[in-house]
Amino acid sequence: MPAEMCVQRVWRDHSHRTCGKAARLEHNGEWYCETHHPPTRVAKDAAKDAQRNAEWEAVRAFNRRWRDIVAAREAVIQAAKEWGSAEEKDGESATDLALALVVLREAEQAK
Ligand SMILES: [Zn+2]
Repeated sequence: MPAEMCVQRVWRDHSHRTCGKAARLEHNGEWYCETHHPPTRVAKDAAKDAQRNAEWEAVRAFNRRWRDIVAAREAVIQAAKEWGSAEEKDGESATDLALALVVLREAEQAK
């Protein structure tokens, strides 16, 4: 049985050497171990990229949601301030303001 060795150049012990592990996979006439076989590496890198992209997308989605919540809270505070000052001018009941705040809070929770 021919003992093929992986031809991949690696950095080890402060110098470039061939990997030297037992090679089981051929690619373009060269032999590689399972770690260094180029098509296997490409597939593993693609899988890692997909995983990383999915994680980043989850982080971005969380950040978007958080920004939406902060914006909704700021809008509620701003609306409360505007209604408060309008109420001072018009002398209207505080019931409208309280009701509007309840409706906005429910809308935010329903998101
Ligand atoms: Zn190797």
